[in-house]
Amino acid sequence: MTATAPSISDPTRSFLSREHGLFIDGRWVGAGTSKRLSVLNPATGDTVAIIHEASATDVDRAVKAARRALEGEWSQIGAQARGELLHRLANLIERDAQRLAELETLENGMPLSLSLSTLRSFCVPFIRYYAGWPTKIVGDTLPVRPSWGPPGDWLIYTLREPIGVVAAIIPWNAPCAMMVLKLAPALAAGCTLVLKPAELTPLAATRIVQLAEEAGFPRGVVNLVQGVGESVGRALVRHPEVNKIAFTGSTEVGKAIVREAANDLKRVTLELGGKSPFVVFPDADLDEAAPAAAMACFMFAGQACMAGTRLFVADPIYDRFVAKVVDFSAQLKLGDGFDPLTTIGPLISAAQRSRVQGFVDRAKRQGITVACGGSAVGDQGFFYSPTVCVGVEPDTELAQTEVFGPVMAAMRFDTDDEAALVRAINSTPYGLAGSVWTQNLSRAHRLAARIDSGQVGVNFHAAISPETPFGGNKQSGWGREYGSEGLDAYLKTKAVSVRIVGPAPAAARG
Ligand code: NAP
Ligand code: MG
Repeated sequence: MTATAPSISDPTRSFLSREHGLFIDGRWVGAGTSKRLSVLNPATGDTVAIIHEASATDVDRAVKAARRALEGEWSQIGAQARGELLHRLANLIERDAQRLAELETLENGMPLSLSLSTLRSFCVPFIRYYAGWPTKIVGDTLPVRPSWGPPGDWLIYTLREPIGVVAAIIPWNAPCAMMVLKLAPALAAGCTLVLKPAELTPLAATRIVQLAEEAGFPRGVVNLVQGVGESVGRALVRHPEVNKIAFTGSTEVGKAIVREAANDLKRVTLELGGKSPFVVFPDADLDEAAPAAAMACFMFAGQACMAGTRLFVADPIYDRFVAKVVDFSAQLKLGDGFDPLTTIGPLISAAQRSRVQGFVDRAKRQGITVACGGSAVGDQGFFYSPTVCVGVEPDTELAQTEVFGPVMAAMRFDTDDEAALVRAINSTPYGLAGSVWTQNLSRAHRLAARIDSGQVGVNFHAAISPETPFGGNKQSGWGREYGSEGLDAYLKTKAVSVRIVGPAPAAARG
């Protein structure tokens, strides 16, 4: 494990030296409470910045600003101009990728290289993808004549309208990507937003909103409030003028949001937890699959919703394959995200680390063997070693419950009993992602069809791209992000039925 002094640039240093407020109605404002929140660097535990926490009044002002913008200037801006604004935002994020990555690494702990590549290879193309959509949002004309109506001609068409004011509530595990995932489709659809980042990671989100301001979005279109979920998040969810909640986070909070939203039937989309399978058959390229299995689980220190946390290995290769995964995992370099040699950063907080340790301790008490890792590392920051648990049974807590930390549960399966394998794979409450590693084409397609999840990879885990729908089945969520379905989630359809009245043309009159 290494700890290095963060090598941050001057602009980032100056950003950190200021207290950051809220962005409401096109202005940066202090919060209506005197409450301040400290932002910690999870690699050291040190405070790196201070932000203002929003009051209920701030939330109300932000939602009302979003409402005014929705009904005012933003509704008058053409589709082409919306696309151009999004392109401008993408260009600014590309320009400032290094600064954003520094903030993200400071507040989240992920390796700087991972943050940079996420920004450049995912966030920027994702916004550009949605920047192309506004000019292609069209309704239909329907070749129908209502059978019950008076005779004559009808024109029936549909309009695709923005769903309205969106409250976007975001987790801490990939702050930049999570912001962009909400901003781009909502703005492409013509919605306005109030964004609430996780209280643990408000900094990169603040910078992205500064860039949206620089891009030139009209006032009130993008608003930012900061603070804890229980108060600020809940105030947003309850606000009667919010039309839709776009939430990414835990299944537990997702359910609480649905209960709240039931009061006035707000639209809700949910991207929640996962317990994704990584399934290896004897005919797979094992040299490629073993490091891929480790990284599918340990990238983002296991704090990724689509992490491949359940490793299913065919019986004949189980011992050999698991040994390879353990060897690779034990050599992963845990450290400060600013150290270029680091492959795995810290967990987000001391609380998250205790939670992870709890899962491992309970697994041990059930007789599960920890083949590598299984403990906190170092005396500063919140590091936890990549942990491989072997001989896990599919019905244990470790195989059923999302840990959201670097803990893999390895399980054995009988190659000749595919039905039992499918039952084990589908036995959790989640259904987000998964991958099957095999050279057998028929088997790959068969399993892809039978795995109950929103996405399945073959010989690759979690192949995400802006065009490809992403989301969960079962308790992993409602709806899909990315692609055209991700845009649909921010649109509503209106059908207009026009009865054409007046005298028929002379020819028709005979
Ligand atoms: P979380 O506790 O559910 O928090 C997510 C967001 O909701 C945070 O901004 C949080 O605010 C806020 N929040 C908490 N309680 C709230 C309430 N009662 N009302 C409104 N908002 C509330 O999740 P987390 O612990 O930050 O993130 C980890 C979870 O996210 C994991 O389960 C993971 O699988 C899931 N996740 C899913 C995806 C996906 O795409 N499917 C992606 C990433 C993460 P504060 O944190 O500031 O209190
Ligand atoms: Mg939480």
